[in-house]
Amino acid sequence: MWTGSAMPSAAFHHLGNRTDSTENLSIWNWGDGRMDDDTMDKVHNKRNVHGDGGLYVGGVWLDTSEVAERIKARGDGAHHDRPCERSQSRVCAAKPDGSYDVIIIGAGCIGSAIARELSKTTASVLILEAADDVTQGATKGNSGIVHAGFDDKPGTNRAKYCWPGNQLFPALDRELHFGFERAGSLVIAKTDDDVKALVELMARGKKNGVKNLRIVLREELLLLEPHVDKDAIAALLAPDAGTITPYEYTIALAENAVQNGVELRLRREVVAINKRGAGAGELFSVEARHWETPSVAEKLPAFQAAMDAAGGVAWSPSPGTVMGGPAVREVYRARHIINAGGCVSDKIAAMVGDTSFKVKPRMGEYILLSKAEGPKSRHVLFPAPHPVYGKGVIVQTTLWGNLILGPTARDTLKKDEASGEYVVDQAVRDEKTDDIMAYILMKCRKLVPNFNAGNTIHTFAGVRAKNTTGDWVIGPLAGVPGFINAASIDSPGIAASPAIALDIVTMLQAAGLQTIPDPKFIPYRAPIFRPKDGYKGLKMTPDIEDAWSCKDPRSNVVCKCERVTEAEVVDACRRSLPIDSTQAIRKRTRAGMGHCQGDPDNYCCEQRVAAIIARETGLAYEEVGTRPWPASSMMPKRIFDKADLQHVRELNEDGRSVTLAGAAL
Ligand SMILES: Cc1cc2nc3c(=O)[nH]c(=O)nc-3n(C[C@H](O)[C@H](O)[C@H](O)COP(=O)(O)OP(=O)(O)OC[C@H]3O[C@@H](n4cnc5c(N)ncnc54)[C@H](O)[C@@H]3O)c2cc1C
Repeated sequence: MWTGSAMPSAAFHHLGNRTDSTENLSIWNWGDGRMDDDTMDKVHNKRNVHGDGGLYVGGVWLDTSEVAERIKARGDGAHHDRPCERSQSRVCAAKPDGSYDVIIIGAGCIGSAIARELSKTTASVLILEAADDVTQGATKGNSGIVHAGFDDKPGTNRAKYCWPGNQLFPALDRELHFGFERAGSLVIAKTDDDVKALVELMARGKKNGVKNLRIVLREELLLLEPHVDKDAIAALLAPDAGTITPYEYTIALAENAVQNGVELRLRREVVAINKRGAGAGELFSVEARHWETPSVAEKLPAFQAAMDAAGGVAWSPSPGTVMGGPAVREVYRARHIINAGGCVSDKIAAMVGDTSFKVKPRMGEYILLSKAEGPKSRHVLFPAPHPVYGKGVIVQTTLWGNLILGPTARDTLKKDEASGEYVVDQAVRDEKTDDIMAYILMKCRKLVPNFNAGNTIHTFAGVRAKNTTGDWVIGPLAGVPGFINAASIDSPGIAASPAIALDIVTMLQAAGLQTIPDPKFIPYRAPIFRPKDGYKGLKMTPDIEDAWSCKDPRSNVVCKCERVTEAEVVDACRRSLPIDSTQAIRKRTRAGMGHCQGDPDNYCCEQRVAAIIARETGLAYEEVGTRPWPASSMMPKRIFDKADLQHVRELNEDGRSVTLAGAAL
């Protein structure tokens, strides 16, 4: 087997033959049958896991055959015969004069949810996204909990939008099929003071309109959660809390928005906004830097021409990513601007003179365990709340069956008493990885003592867009008609996103946007991943030289751990969003998400995926973007060896109590 880090292109010399066979692929024709229950029970202990013999749709479990029927009845997910152009969607939504009704800055869950709502109308909408794909900001690295909304301070924007957003998820998932499980959540109490906190939380939840909350006592709790710490005495149950995979949710929103006429431009960093004057007919002009990776930029004639005409600039994002390269200046015009820039939303607001808030990023790190640990929790398990540091360090099983531990909550900025300015907290920045991991493990052991930390497969982090006002900044900006903030939205921003999107559309209407319903709007989108029945009907080619010997792309496995097929990768490539990296495919199909994390000594799944992207897009194999490393991982290596895993086990077993700078005790 080939085990190097770059793929010899000879291994894929016959890829060209494949295009015909995938052209008329009916992705939803996967047949019947269930997985071998004995085998899967050993792993999942009878807990349904998204993708194994069925899918969660709208909060409930559907077997493979039921899912197939529903999807067939509701369209095919708009599978095109070829991928779209580099860095932009197929459609141009501009009006005849080249302007747009609305420009949305940022394609996280907030920008994408707003775009999808607007795609139900005939308004012309453009999304400008600085990164090389949608959902690359806070929406990528978080817990994916559709919170019920009981802990948010009444009267805040968090409290206003969370429960209504939560209630919109079942219907949204029945249309978009990103996968939504109504797992429910439990806040665990171990002391009398904790129980008092549960009562307060329940009262707060009622004020926020949250329904179905109740306190369960120890006996019932142990039935609901057999692995919870036996010192637990009660818990607050919120049955409406749910679990999604946040990037799959956002991809589904953006895909459907674009399918319905929204234009998306990637690799566009907004750097300046010129305010329109007082006249009602005047437009905003938005200046963006369009960047491309150097070797691809050379091959894009329009990009080169723009470089020659205007002189290029260098684009250099944060270290540790694969993004960066030459950039050209572009200008877009629109009547309305939505600022959905997440952690950068304060800088975008400042471009039109709004300096009323400053983002104070709060780090959140996670440890991800394999699916063997998934049965250790059924609900989302929270500790009794800390008065300042949010929801605490959580144990939960993801939609896809992994146990996830975390996040931390570490404030990266602190106020300099002398100057009054926020400055980087050096102690937080320099915190040792071992201490961060030991802290997460320590906190999670108090909820579920018996997980096996030796089954760690990955670590990652996200950054919350906390800000100096203490609440989300949502609404029209006084004095700048047409500019609306959907800014600085930290947790529970995902849960709230569908409700925020509806409200932003109302604000746009109040600001003069005509929202005529589009009769051609198609609400449905098929999932990319097809449920599998064990390995039934799938063919593996351990020797990578045989990677394309399997004649049927629906059987040809490209990722062994997650049972991803060539057909699913092709489907992802040919949808409405541009694809040019294995990272983008990883988020859409799970190729590389499994316990081997794409280990070339195992199955070379990243190389297989890169070859398919190259074939589909016409990029050279070497030009396909790969998974960035270390990106947000805490571990020094992507593939853990036995010594690494033993180290994590020891961190868990040494039982020490750890404190972290900038975090809760
Ligand atoms: C550790 C952690 C755990 C969390 N857990 C949960 C949870 O369980 N449930 C929940 O509901 N919420 C949770 N959240 C909060 C949730 O992740 C956020 O509220 C949500 O993702 C915010 O989405 P957004 O679209 O506003 O921001 P982002 O996802 O950050 O999107 C902003 C986008 O704007 C782009 N952008 C920035 N600057 C520019 C520019 N100049 N030009 C063009 N584009 C630009 C960025 O590239 C990015 O794609 C958590 C957050 C963290 C960090």
